[in-house]
Amino acid sequence: MKIICIGRNYVDHIKELGNEMTSEPVIFMKPDSAVFRQRDAFYIPDWTNDVHYEAEVVVRINRLGKNIEPKFAHKYFAEFTLGIDFTARDVQSKLKKQGLPWEKAKGFDQSAVLGDFLPVEDYDLRDLHFELHKNGEVVQNASTKLMIYDIPQMIEHCSQYFTLKIGDLIFTGTPAGVGPVAPGDVLEGFIEKKKVLNVRIK
Ligand code: MG
Repeated sequence: MKIICIGRNYVDHIKELGNEMTSEPVIFMKPDSAVFRQRDAFYIPDWTNDVHYEAEVVVRINRLGKNIEPKFAHKYFAEFTLGIDFTARDVQSKLKKQGLPWEKAKGFDQSAVLGDFLPVEDYDLRDLHFELHKNGEVVQNASTKLMIYDIPQMIEHCSQYFTLKIGDLIFTGTPAGVGPVAPGDVLEGFIEKKKVLNVRIK
């Protein structure tokens, strides 16, 4: 199983980090060992002082596919959820400055949090509202309609380079509002007001 992540897919998030727009989707990977398995407690690694949350809609691939056309993309996933792409921003900034790969900052253990999966057929993924709350306050609040590349376009693009396999996950990018976490914080994720995710930071 692989975890494909899309970067810079919401204009307001690109602006908040001072990044450049790109002419095609930015893709990076997390290893399968990054999947969050500690139920509800995320432990900040000791090698970083600046872990950020990034709430993202995540789709789970349920069919083998390569060179998938956007019009057929919907046949390749039936479930989605809200996830968190935990990012060691200090480490990422240092690596970016040096022009080096980001994996240490993005693919570390427990960095890919997944909420409860929901059936695609019950929702409109072209205009899906989602929120992340930190300690009861709304910190991220967006709709998938604000994505630069929509989910079919992402599936098309990713599947040109990487054969999609059953169980693969695609993190579809985060909107504005990313920020740091500290021990004691509680993150809650919502899709259309339904709570799908709860993580305590330690
Ligand atoms: Mg992200």
